[in-house]
Amino acid sequence: MSNTNIFWFRRDLRLDDNAALYHALKAGKPVRCLFVFDREILDELAADDRRIDFIWQSIAELRQELSRIGSDLHVAQGRASDVVPALAQQWQADSVFANRDYEPAARVRDQHVAEQLAQQGRQLQLFKDQVIFETDEILTTTRRPYTVFTPYKNAWLKKLDGFYMQAYPTHQYLQHLDRWSSSPTPSLEELGFKAGLVSLKGGSHAAQQLFADFCQRITHYKIWRDYPATKGVSYLSTHLRFGTISLRKLVQFACLQGGEGADCWLGELIWRDFYQQLIWHFPIAAGQSFKEEYRQLAFENREEWLIAWQEGRTGYPIVDAAMRQLNQSGYMHNRLRMITASFLVKDLLIDWRKGEAYFAAKLLDFDLAANNGGWQWAASTGCDAQPYFRIFNPVTQSAKFDPDGKFIRRYVPELAQFNDKDIHAPWLAKNPPMGFQLGRDYPKPLVDHAEQRQKALMLFGKNKE
Ligand code: FAD
Repeated sequence: MSNTNIFWFRRDLRLDDNAALYHALKAGKPVRCLFVFDREILDELAADDRRIDFIWQSIAELRQELSRIGSDLHVAQGRASDVVPALAQQWQADSVFANRDYEPAARVRDQHVAEQLAQQGRQLQLFKDQVIFETDEILTTTRRPYTVFTPYKNAWLKKLDGFYMQAYPTHQYLQHLDRWSSSPTPSLEELGFKAGLVSLKGGSHAAQQLFADFCQRITHYKIWRDYPATKGVSYLSTHLRFGTISLRKLVQFACLQGGEGADCWLGELIWRDFYQQLIWHFPIAAGQSFKEEYRQLAFENREEWLIAWQEGRTGYPIVDAAMRQLNQSGYMHNRLRMITASFLVKDLLIDWRKGEAYFAAKLLDFDLAANNGGWQWAASTGCDAQPYFRIFNPVTQSAKFDPDGKFIRRYVPELAQFNDKDIHAPWLAKNPPMGFQLGRDYPKPLVDHAEQRQKALMLFGKNKE
């Protein structure tokens, strides 16, 4: 005789408008909430990984909210695929409810959990929560997944109606949570991680504050979003990644708001869904080029250049400023992700997967689907990618999107005294600031862009034939 149901938090760390939590609460048995620090994931991470702190804060907030209504959240650590079935047995749960995750490794984990639960006569019930349209919900007229964004976006917008944006009224059913209290959450140190390294606050409350701030600026989004020194974007990606804010509410807001800023922002949220459905249909893209003709590209892969790129020492100021922003904060502006990714692949001739892996280790908002999609876009290896012959010039990109060098000055202070023109290419400056010595105070450019561009064209062009 089962006593309870379990709701398993994963990338949906909120009580508000949470699909699987809603279904669990409505299922008629007291619900126990669970979060697992999955050692299979954690053991691969460095001790200074900031994401664990963000998750930890979000969980602390959840526990507070739950304790206010007499319930609690059990925080376990171990292999999720062992812990979840074991707790289901211990608590005599009928079902485990969770929101669907589309990443290849998560699908394997969930399959394993579902099989273990089935052996015990229990169920894993999965729901759609982190996207508006999932798996096969948007297909072409020949029932194939879309691999080009614009027609996908048109189909997405055509299908969208109030039903898909409607929030789940979870709060109306919270009385169905089990009244209990669990053991304390393991500290970050006990989990093997350092505290105090993350500047972005975790939890739904912080997400709402960021969103409220962005609502004041959304009208300007279309123009401002391209300038890294301007506060033009929402900075919500980490909250979206961990589900501390509801995507449905954001989409609803963008639709109600309308206008070119909100429409443009909605387009970015659609890119997010696009990449999620791509990774679901083509999990193979997680390890190799989507386009077959680019699977054997003979990248030079010079290790010392990779390290210079990672450390922000390439001698190209906009690239270095961007990489330092990533290293210092765990965030990088979208325009700069495109510039640095293009630079690694097409200027330094390094395999995009090495850059993808570095971003995966450093980005607070790291999401396999979006990161892989972004890298394959910039590397021209993706399904709807930048054509290989369109190669960003890091100097002109810099002059266009950081015209007065404000962003560069923030992260590369050694160039602060350069004028607004020379700061983008200090090696060309006829009159550098007094006392400044290129090569001593700031690196000489690692490569010549024009030369490397030709090499990249040859590399990609050869594989095209
Ligand atoms: P906003 O401009 O406010 O956009 C709103 C939301 O839309 C974002 O929070 C994000 O969830 C989504 N979004 C925006 N642009 C994209 C996009 N191109 N693809 C998918 N979703 C998008 N985004 C991630 O969330 N995680 C990643 O790991 C990631 N890696 C990237 C790697 C590369 C090489 C590139 C070019 C892009 C990557 N992006 C990634 C997409 C994008 O850069 C970030 O989502 C964005 O910079 C986050 O800032 P924001 O929340 O202020 O975005």
